[in-house]
Amino acid sequence: MQKTITEPNLRLLIDTLVSEGKRVIGPKAAGTMTLYEPLSQGEELNLGELPRRSAKEAFFPLCETILTYERDKEGVRVTDVDPQAIPETVLVAARPCDVAAAPVLDSVFSWDFKDEFFLERRRKTTIIGLACARADDACFCTAVGLSPGDTKGSDLFLAPLTDGGYRCDAITEKGEALLAAHADLFSDAATAEPLPLAEPTLGKLDLEKIRQWLDTHFEDPLWEEIAARCAGCGACAFLCPACHCFDIVDEGGEEKGARRKSWDACGFGKFTNHASGHNPRDVQPSRYRNRIMHKFKYYVDKFDQRLCTGCGRCVRACPVGIDIATVLEEINSK
Ligand code: SF4
Ligand code: SF4
Repeated sequence: MQKTITEPNLRLLIDTLVSEGKRVIGPKAAGTMTLYEPLSQGEELNLGELPRRSAKEAFFPLCETILTYERDKEGVRVTDVDPQAIPETVLVAARPCDVAAAPVLDSVFSWDFKDEFFLERRRKTTIIGLACARADDACFCTAVGLSPGDTKGSDLFLAPLTDGGYRCDAITEKGEALLAAHADLFSDAATAEPLPLAEPTLGKLDLEKIRQWLDTHFEDPLWEEIAARCAGCGACAFLCPACHCFDIVDEGGEEKGARRKSWDACGFGKFTNHASGHNPRDVQPSRYRNRIMHKFKYYVDKFDQRLCTGCGRCVRACPVGIDIATVLEEINSK
């Protein structure tokens, strides 16, 4: 189903969803940056720029409590956090490079162990994607098989029109249902042309060639050349829509406390530290190699998907200027 919506009505849609008790998350000004944050009204929606952090937090929060414990006269009482309490959510105006990562993450979170916290959020979230009309030097979605108008992962998809409104395509049943429930805010026919989409500058990469090279170059001078300067800060993993490693830590004392699931990063020095003290990835190049191997070989071998949507966040944020697109280009040229 295809409809159009004006920008004022898009903001009104957010007001309506909030008044229905839904959690609405979308790009919002936060100090000097834009972040995906809960919106309390449509006026807060900031459509101007790519949010600094990815939208994965809608499904996979930076830190979440999964159980609490307390000692009382009877003994120790353990209370599980109920994933069913997760609210119905609408993620609004999420960029294609963010949205495309969500179905990629479904594979790992529903593989040998079903992560009910992640999966319940996915079930309860309707995603309204937004096409990109502008790319910067770090964007390379087209090089990894996506595009600024890619609807992968979206339930409803907005494409900006020359009159300031949006063409709105329902991609899934969830999207159809949202359209039908708020039909008064949408109109039938497009009255204007779509705005031209963004054009990232990096050309296509041969991702299968890259996978094959990785298959045979676990040991290679490239890893030392690229990653000797990596500071192991983890910014690349924390900002990435597809990175998903986490740690589980008990916090508290003998009387009470909580078990929390928190993001982790393979760039951190102690990420693979064993209880014995042995660390199989004891130097930074081996950690950066794992980052590339995981994204472009291991996950492909296991799930036939890549853990990179070309959003460019790691490129913009890396304090020592490591550029994953340049690394991929170099491997591609070998
Ligand atoms: S690896 Fe970098 S460019 Fe690729 S999705 Fe993650 S943050 Fe974006
Ligand atoms: S952002 Fe750069 S310095 Fe920090 S861990 Fe990633 S590659 Fe290393």
